Amino acid sequence: MKIIDGKALAETMQEKLKNRVDKLKGKGIQPGLAVILLGENPASQVYVRNKERVAAKLGLKSEIVRLPDTISEAELLDLIESYNNDISWHGLLVQLPLPPHISEEKVLLAISPEKDVDGFHPINMGKLWSGSPLMIPSTPAGIMEMFRAYGVELSGKKAVVIGRSNIVGKPMAQLLMMANATVTIAHSRTENLSELTRSADILVVAIGQDRFIKAEDVKAGAVVIDVGMNRDENGKLHGDVDFEQVKEVAGLLTPVPGGVGPMTITMLMEQTIRAAETSMK
Ligand code: NDP
Repeated sequence: MKIIDGKALAETMQEKLKNRVDKLKGKGIQPGLAVILLGENPASQVYVRNKERVAAKLGLKSEIVRLPDTISEAELLDLIESYNNDISWHGLLVQLPLPPHISEEKVLLAISPEKDVDGFHPINMGKLWSGSPLMIPSTPAGIMEMFRAYGVELSGKKAVVIGRSNIVGKPMAQLLMMANATVTIAHSRTENLSELTRSADILVVAIGQDRFIKAEDVKAGAVVIDVGMNRDENGKLHGDVDFEQVKEVAGLLTPVPGGVGPMTITMLMEQTIRAAETSMK
């Protein structure tokens, strides 16, 4: 069994991204990522701080707009519009989840698709599903980079994705299908899940259930990608896959932490840099 080292791969990619940023700066452009954060959600605070840290490391301009969660929907939409119209920002995202009085759909629709580095705008989702992607959600984009880096053959293989969220499961399935895998999407109502997962050459698990996938759910030699991030009562992070068990069966496996997470944030930066490069054309 080989471990997919997401942290090392992210470092290697970040070196290359830094070069792209330097090149842009040489032409007078600094890629800019603006992040709007509402309220005090502790997990969101951590995600946003990490984005800020990696952006700074790569030489991007970044701004975290911290707002009280009492802000009105209209005020938030106006703010989004002002970032849409400011050419010095190439990427814009609003950290989810939003407070209940603000419509997530309206907010995602308000972000300019060209700046939507999270890839959650319905236009970007539609472009992905119609086979001409512009912005792709960073978690599945990072997983595709892992497959490339580790030489994982996808064409003709049987892939099973567990989880059907717009952020991970659905775009993951589409990216695998575009790479010519035969894809099944499973979810909480799927019957005989273990039988299905045991048939997978490629298994991507994104369900948010601590160490749910066990050795007996995995085909010998399969590539297993663990997206889950679950904290136990001691604050320790675990994936959706029981790493200790599954490492005895899988051919390739991502750890948690140090797997999908570092790649996700790297791909967010990649899309921001790409948006800046595109803005010059
Ligand atoms: P959601 O809660 O939006 O979706 C979870 C999905 O898993 C749903 O489709 C649900 O099915 C399915 N599911 C839940 N329980 C089961 C089960 N027992 N058997 C089969 N399917 C099940 O989660 P996200 O997609 O946003 O995130 C999934 C996990 O990935 C979380 O742990 C999250 O923290 C993590 N994550 C990690 C990232 C990273 O960078 N490493 C980035 C994004 C997410 P149904 O639709 O039927 O309810």
